[in-house]
Parts: sequence; structure tokens; C-alpha cells
Amino acid sequence: MPELPEVEVTRRGIAPHLAGRRISAVAVREPRLRWPVPQAVRKLAGRTVRGVRRRGKYLLIDCGDGHLIVHLGMSGSLRVLPAGTPPQKHDHFDLVLGDRLLRLRDPRRFGAVLWTAEAIDAHPLLAHLGVEPLSRKFAPAGLHFLARGQRISIKQFLMDGRRIVGVGNIYASESLFRAGIHPLTPARRLSRERCAALSRAVKDTLRSAIRAGGSSLRDFVGADGAAGEFQLRTWVYGREGLPCRRCGTPIRRLVQGARATYFCPGCQKR
Ligand SMILES: [Zn+2]
Repeated sequence: MPELPEVEVTRRGIAPHLAGRRISAVAVREPRLRWPVPQAVRKLAGRTVRGVRRRGKYLLIDCGDGHLIVHLGMSGSLRVLPAGTPPQKHDHFDLVLGDRLLRLRDPRRFGAVLWTAEAIDAHPLLAHLGVEPLSRKFAPAGLHFLARGQRISIKQFLMDGRRIVGVGNIYASESLFRAGIHPLTPARRLSRERCAALSRAVKDTLRSAIRAGGSSLRDFVGADGAAGEFQLRTWVYGREGLPCRRCGTPIRRLVQGARATYFCPGCQKR
């Protein structure tokens, strides 16, 4: 499933091919995505794309008088291809911009292509999203403030999209390892100093994943295969029983909120 770093790398990959270009045509070959693709999307020709932003895992394509909202769902990927490239199976949506097109491939169809002419941050899908972890609002003091009085574990706290958006399961485990915090620690027990360490760890973890994906940026242009999964060299995630890369203690796995958590009992003491 595409996580925040994949979506951010996608944004950086496609934005230069969209910004400032006029939409010449739209093709909706399969409107039955997670939600039906609205009719308004078919009528976007003639508008000029102003830019591409990201909010959580939503890509927001600014068309001047409204936004195209794209979500990659479970299996979606976006490509920039020469205009006229024949669609393959699962290529459900094209935004044609003169000599090139932006194409959504989504075999499982949990992705979304929506349109809104309203204020984008007030959109029902976006209005309740938490703080962006790479933003200044997710500063050390900000995290301490958010965590005040919260009884849930810090792992589940990090993954609650109404508080902090886009810290998926892998990144939560990896960030807690980097900060040396046991995943079962109640969020409210974290001192200001440990919140500062965790805020830095979350940013570092996401940024290094984005950098790892940055080397595959060329895949977004011209290529016509499946999107490559990010090959992350993890500290703890998926390494149950293997020696910790820092201290050699075997990595342990536990289940929190039906999700697997990996941690090092040596580096992350309770
Ligand atoms: Zn360790």
C-alpha cells in the first residue's frame, strides 16, 4: 500500500509535468473506483494546472477554480507517459496535458479521483486529518502538547491519522526504535525531551524513505510497469528474531490494535 513517502515521491515526480500546463483532455475508462468518479472530472479540459500539493496521502491537483483529489488506495500508481500511449488493463484514468498524460493504474480500485470547487482544507476527506509530520507544526513542543493526557500507547498514538497524518505501521515502529522508546509506553508518559527525540525520529525516518524513493523518480516518467516498492533497510520492522543492528538483542514482535509492532528490548526499554 502506498504510504506517505511513496505519495510524496509521486508528487515530486509528477508535479513538474503538470504545473503550468493546460489540460487538453480527460479519459475516465472505469469510474467505479473507491467512490464513483464524478462527472465534473470529465469536464476539466481547458483548465491550467497550477500545482500539485499533498495532504496526508491525498494528492491535490490545483486547477485554479477547484482541485482534483487523487488517492492511490491499496494498489494505485501514477505515471507520466507520452500522449497517445495505449492504456493497459487497470489504467482507469488519464489527465492529458498536450504531449503527455498523467495515468492512474489501480488494479484493486480502492483509489479515488474526485473533484471539489470548495475550499480544499474543508473537504470532508481532509478536514479531520491530523498534523503533517514533516511540517513545522510537528515540532518537538507540538508533539508534547498533542500527547498530553493521552492514555493510549505511543505506537497507536503515532498511527492515529486524526492526530498525526501518514505515519504508517512500518514508519511508527522504525521511528520508535530510532528514538529509543518502547512501543507500549503511554503517550502521556513521554517527557518533553523524549517527545523531541521522537519528533526528530519521525521526520528522519520519513525523509530517509523519501530519499530512498527519490532514486526511483525516473520510474514515474516513461516507464510502464508496476510501481516499485520502496526497498527500505529497516532497523526493526519485519526482523523478528534477528539481531538488533545496534545492540545484537533479538528483535521482538507484538500486536497493538491488530497491527504488528517490532522493537528491540535492548534499545527500547520500558
Ligand atoms: Zn537494540
